[in-house]
Amino acid sequence: MSDPIRVPVGKGTPEGVNSAYVCPDRGVVIDPGPPTTESWEALLDGIERAGIPVQGVEHVLVTHWHADHAGLACRLAERANASVHLHADDAPLVGDYTHERTKRLRRDARILEEWGVPERVRETLTDRDILSPIPDSYPIKTHDDGDKIAGIEVIHTPGHTKGHASFMTNETLFLGDVLLPTYTPNVGGSDTRLDDPLAKYLSSLQRIEIVAKGRTGEPGHGTTMDVDKAIREGREHHRRRAEAGFDVVAATYEPTAWAIARDLFGEMNGIHAKFGAGEAAAHLDRLTALGIVERIEASPVRYRTVIDDYPSGMNLTP
Ligand SMILES: [Zn+2]
Ligand SMILES: [Zn+2]
Repeated sequence: MSDPIRVPVGKGTPEGVNSAYVCPDRGVVIDPGPPTTESWEALLDGIERAGIPVQGVEHVLVTHWHADHAGLACRLAERANASVHLHADDAPLVGDYTHERTKRLRRDARILEEWGVPERVRETLTDRDILSPIPDSYPIKTHDDGDKIAGIEVIHTPGHTKGHASFMTNETLFLGDVLLPTYTPNVGGSDTRLDDPLAKYLSSLQRIEIVAKGRTGEPGHGTTMDVDKAIREGREHHRRRAEAGFDVVAATYEPTAWAIARDLFGEMNGIHAKFGAGEAAAHLDRLTALGIVERIEASPVRYRTVIDDYPSGMNLTP
């Protein structure tokens, strides 16, 4: 078994340059990259350098629906006569792209309103959400946790998206965006379909901690990473942010998620507004589930604390 080959594709997103992986002996490509000409050329070049012709690709595995990972999947599958694989929860957003995108934009607009994001900021987001050059629809093979594709096991790791999957071989764990070497993956704004996304994300970290033992961690952006260190830092990041969010609620009269995000992160526009408000809402919803914050069901939703001080050493993981 030869090692997976990392192919840097695209100019990168706020998360950094994307990494596509080629497992030549299995005929597998993981996360082929964003739908740009430049990435397409880098991908074809990388597959060839990995020692297989493009026609030798049989399975295209995608960790989650975001365009910087899934964008070239259908194009590569069509060129290679290969199949595209995703977890069942994320598959429709790629396989039924145009229809699901319309639904997503409508849902995002409703949820941003619920978070209290002002109209002028919501507009900057819709303006910048451009249609990706990917097919309206495409057949996808859907999977659940534990399925195997060419001997690679699907590990469902939701949080960043609902159907986020990591892929596992005996030697390697392909992480997608569940953990990143230089950046904490967004939770809350990156997929608005999840209830209590932080609970799901923290449970996924627990799962990753177990399955990563003895394996090399390969992220969807950047190079081979120290998984245990990233898990520790991720937990600490969310613990601090939950406490900071609590403190804002304690010091403010019934703030919205947007007001909390503004307090924590300052001025935000476009995708940053969605990520920031989503991140604040995810933390407050976790604290609500833990019973130390109350959600006031109004339009927009507001929060208030039910205790005076943040409990020290509080465990956020369900
Ligand atoms: Zn992502
Ligand atoms: Zn990404």
